[in-house]
Amino acid sequence: MLLHNRGIMNYQEEKSVLAYQDTLEPIYTFTTTPSLPAQLERLRDLAYNFYWAWNHDIILLFRQLDSDLWEETGHNPVLMLGTIDQAKLKAAMADDGFLAQLERISHHFDAYVAGQSTWFKRSHSSFAATSPIVAYFSAEFGVTECLSIFAGGLGVLAGDHLKSASDLGVPLIGVGLLYQQGYFRQYLNEAGWQQENYVDNDFYTLPIFLEQNAAGKPVKIALDFPGRQVVARVWRAQVGRVSLYLLDTNVPENTAEDRRITHQLYGGDNEMRLKQEFVLGIGGFRALEQLQITPTVYHMNEGHSAFLAIERIRRLMEQYKLSFEEAREAASAGLVFTTHTPVPAGHDYFPPELMDRYFTPYYNAMQLPRKEFLALGCKVPENEKEPFCMTVLALRMAAYSNGVSRLHGNVSRQMWQSLWPGVPQSEIPIGHITNGVHFLSWISREMKQLYDRYLGLRWRREPAEKAVWEKAEHIATNELWLTHERRRERLVAFARRRLRMQLMQRGATQAELEAADEVLDPEALTIGFSRRFATYKRATLILRDPDRLARILNNPECPVQIIFAGKAHPKDEPGKTLIQQIIGMARQDRFRRRLVFLEDYDMSVARYLVQGADVWLNTPLRPREASGTSGMKAVANGVLNMSILDGWWDEAYQPDVGWAIGRQEMYDNREYQDAIEAENLYGLLEREVIPTFYDRSADGLPRRWIAHIKANIKQLCHFFNTHRMVEDYTSNFYLPAAEQFRKLTADNMTRAKQLTAWIKHVRENWEKVRVELVEKGPAKDLQVGEEFSIQVRVHLGNLNPEDVEVMLYLGRMNAARKIVEARKIPMKFVGGDYEWVPVYEASNIICEHSGMHGYTVRVTPKHEDLTKPFLPGLIVWA
Ligand SMILES: *Cc1c(COP(=O)(O)O)cnc(C)c1O
Repeated sequence: MLLHNRGIMNYQEEKSVLAYQDTLEPIYTFTTTPSLPAQLERLRDLAYNFYWAWNHDIILLFRQLDSDLWEETGHNPVLMLGTIDQAKLKAAMADDGFLAQLERISHHFDAYVAGQSTWFKRSHSSFAATSPIVAYFSAEFGVTECLSIFAGGLGVLAGDHLKSASDLGVPLIGVGLLYQQGYFRQYLNEAGWQQENYVDNDFYTLPIFLEQNAAGKPVKIALDFPGRQVVARVWRAQVGRVSLYLLDTNVPENTAEDRRITHQLYGGDNEMRLKQEFVLGIGGFRALEQLQITPTVYHMNEGHSAFLAIERIRRLMEQYKLSFEEAREAASAGLVFTTHTPVPAGHDYFPPELMDRYFTPYYNAMQLPRKEFLALGCKVPENEKEPFCMTVLALRMAAYSNGVSRLHGNVSRQMWQSLWPGVPQSEIPIGHITNGVHFLSWISREMKQLYDRYLGLRWRREPAEKAVWEKAEHIATNELWLTHERRRERLVAFARRRLRMQLMQRGATQAELEAADEVLDPEALTIGFSRRFATYKRATLILRDPDRLARILNNPECPVQIIFAGKAHPKDEPGKTLIQQIIGMARQDRFRRRLVFLEDYDMSVARYLVQGADVWLNTPLRPREASGTSGMKAVANGVLNMSILDGWWDEAYQPDVGWAIGRQEMYDNREYQDAIEAENLYGLLEREVIPTFYDRSADGLPRRWIAHIKANIKQLCHFFNTHRMVEDYTSNFYLPAAEQFRKLTADNMTRAKQLTAWIKHVRENWEKVRVELVEKGPAKDLQVGEEFSIQVRVHLGNLNPEDVEVMLYLGRMNAARKIVEARKIPMKFVGGDYEWVPVYEASNIICEHSGMHGYTVRVTPKHEDLTKPFLPGLIVWA
C-alpha cells in the first residue's frame, strides 16, 4: 500500500487496526477522507461511485490528473485523490479544459444516477414505483480490479449483473462479503511454480461507505454462533444506481478467530466455508432488515448464499406465526437460484455433525426434527449420513432455478434429476438463462468509438436489440482492421512491460530484460488463452505436440504467437503443474519469442487480452464449462473464438463466426479425447485459421477474416451481453416471483396458508391416485393426419378432478420400445363414468408422421398458486 507524505490525506492511523499482524494496538482510531478544493469537489462523487468503471471519460479525467498515480493506486480513484500531489490539483484547477470536461461529465453522471428513462421504467411501469424488488446474493463480486473480492468468472458475472441492472434501472441491490484480503496475487518463482501473495484491502481508501444508522452509528448485525455471538458491520459500494452491501466481521466485538471469517475469499477449511456462508446468507438477510430494505425476491447466485432461504422461512414463521410449511411456501415463491458448475467439487457439502453445531437453534426455531431439517439439503432424504448440500437446499427452496447456458441447463437437469423422482429429465424444473458480459466494461475505447460512429449511440443503451448490430455491415473494412491492429499493438506493448516487470522482480540480468522487449510481434497472429488453471480446462492441450507447434508458430511467412495467463487455486497442485509446463516450454529457444505467460491474471489483464488478441482459445473438457464468458468479451471486441463446443460456444457457434474444436464427442478415455482434440486443433490452425488470417488483398486487408468479425458482431453481440441476460432474469423470474410472493403473502398470508393446507390434503390422499385406460384409444391402424381421441379413468380417492393435472405423453416408439420425442397434451375432465370415476380426455389428436406410436399418461397435483410444476414424490404414471 502507498504511504506517501505528499498526500493531503493521512490515513496512517488506520493501518494498525487493519492489519492484525501489527503489534501496536491503537487507543483511538479515526478516518479521514480526501479533501478537495471546491472547484474539484465533484471528483469525489465520481470517485465514490463505481460507475467510472464503465465510463472511459471519467477514467480519462482521473488519468489526466496523474496517470502514474492512477496506475500506482491500482486504478483506485479514492486512494488516488487521497494521495495526489497538491500541485497537480492546482494545475487541474487552472486548466479550463479540465474544468469544462469535469462539468460536462458531472452533468452526465447526475442524469445517469437520476435514471429518468430506463428500460425497466418503460417496459414494467406498474412495478416502477416499488423500490428494491430484488436482492442478489453472491460470495464474490468482480466490479473492477481495485475492489478485490472475487476469484474469477463467477464474480465477474455478478459484477456485470449489477452493472446491467443499474443501466436498465432494475430495482435490485447486491449482497456479499467484504474480504480483508480478497483473492491472492500470483507470481511465479524461478522454477515456474505459482506463489500466492495475499494483500490486505484497505477499506478506508476504497470507494465504499460504512453504513450508518440514523444515530450515526455503524449498522451492525449479530449472529448466534456456538456459545457466542458474531457481529458484522455493513459497507456499501455504489455501482451506478445499484447498492452493493458487503458484510465484514473484522470488528473489535469479535474474537480474533471470528474476525477472520471474512478474511479470505474461499480461504480456510470446510467449517470456515460454512461460517462464511452463514454470514453471507443469514447475516446478509438480517443486514437488509437492519437497513429497512425489504426485497420481495432473493436471487441466490450459486449455492453459497442458500442459507438465506432458511432465514427467510424462520423470519416469516416468527413474524406471521406460521408453520414451517406455510412459511416455506411463501418464501419459496420469491426465491431464485442460479447454479454455475457441473463440476462436483464446485458444490458445497457439509457433514451433518457440522450442521448440528451451527443449526441446532434453527431446528427448534423452525419446529423441525433434526432429520427433516437436514433432509432439506440431501439428495436422498432418508440417508442420515449424507452431507448437507447447498445446491440441493437451493434447488429445493427456489421457485425458479437455472443453469447458465443451454447445454448447462441440460447437464444440470440430468445432474439433479433424482430430486424429482418420476419426472422426465426434460421436465426437471431447472431452466437456463445464458450468461452475458457487460459491454461497456469490456469493449476497448477504440472499438466503442467505432461502434458509436457506425451503429449510433443506441448500442450502448440497448445492446440486446438485434437491429442495432446489423448495421455493423457498414463499418468500413479498413477502419475496423486498423482499430483491431491498434489493440493488438497495445496488447504486445502491455505484455512486454509485464514480462519486464516479472523479470525484474525475479532479479533478472540486464540482458534478460532486454530480451523481454524482443518477445512477441505486433503483427503476428495472436492467440489468447487466459482463465483459471483448473485441469478440466486443459490449458496445455495446444502444447501436446511441441514439434508441430514449433513449426506452426515459427513459420516465417505466417508467424503465430500465444499469450497465456491465469491462476491456479492455491491448493490445486495439478493446476500449478500446468502453469509450470507452459513456463518450461516458453523457456525453450524455439518458443521464447512466441509463447509467453503473463502473471497475475485479473480484470485489467483480461481487458488487454480480450481486446487485442486475434483468436480466443478455449479447450475445456466437455461438458464441464458451464458457460464461460471471456469468449463473449472477445466477440464484442472483434476477436474470433476457437473453442470446444462447450458452455456458451455450444449455442453460439456457426461456421461463419469462428471455429469449433471437435464435434461434441465425449470419450471415456481421457488420453484418447485429448489426442483427438489436439489433432483437430492443430489441423484447424494449419488449414483454416492461419491461411484466413494471412490471406491479404492488395491493400493488405484480410478480407475473409474481417467478414468473420462482422458476422460475430451482427449475429452474436445482441445476445451474449448482460443487458439481455438481466432482462431475461427480470421478465422470466424476478417479476413473476415478486407477483407470486405478494399474492401468497397478502392479507396476512391467506393464500400461503390455503396453499399449504391444500398440499397437505393432496399428500395425504395421493396414494389412492391411479390411472386406467378406457377402451376408446386410437384404432390400431391410423393414417397420418387422421384425428383420434384418448380417454382415461383417474381414480382420485378424496381428491377432486380440479386438484390434478392429467397429461398425455404421445410419441414415436424407438427400437427399444421407448417413447421418444414425446408430445405433451393436457387431458380435459369430461365427467364421471357409470361408477362416478372421473374421466379425462384428449381429443382431436393428429399424428403427423407414420410409424409405430405409443402413449402414456401421468397425473400430478394442480393448483394455481403452486410455484413449481411438481411436488417431489407426487406423480403417478399409467
Ligand atoms: C471474464 C473473466 C473470467 C471468466 O472468463 P471464463 O471464460 O469463464 O474463463 C475470469 N477471470 C477474469 C479476470 C475475467 O475477466
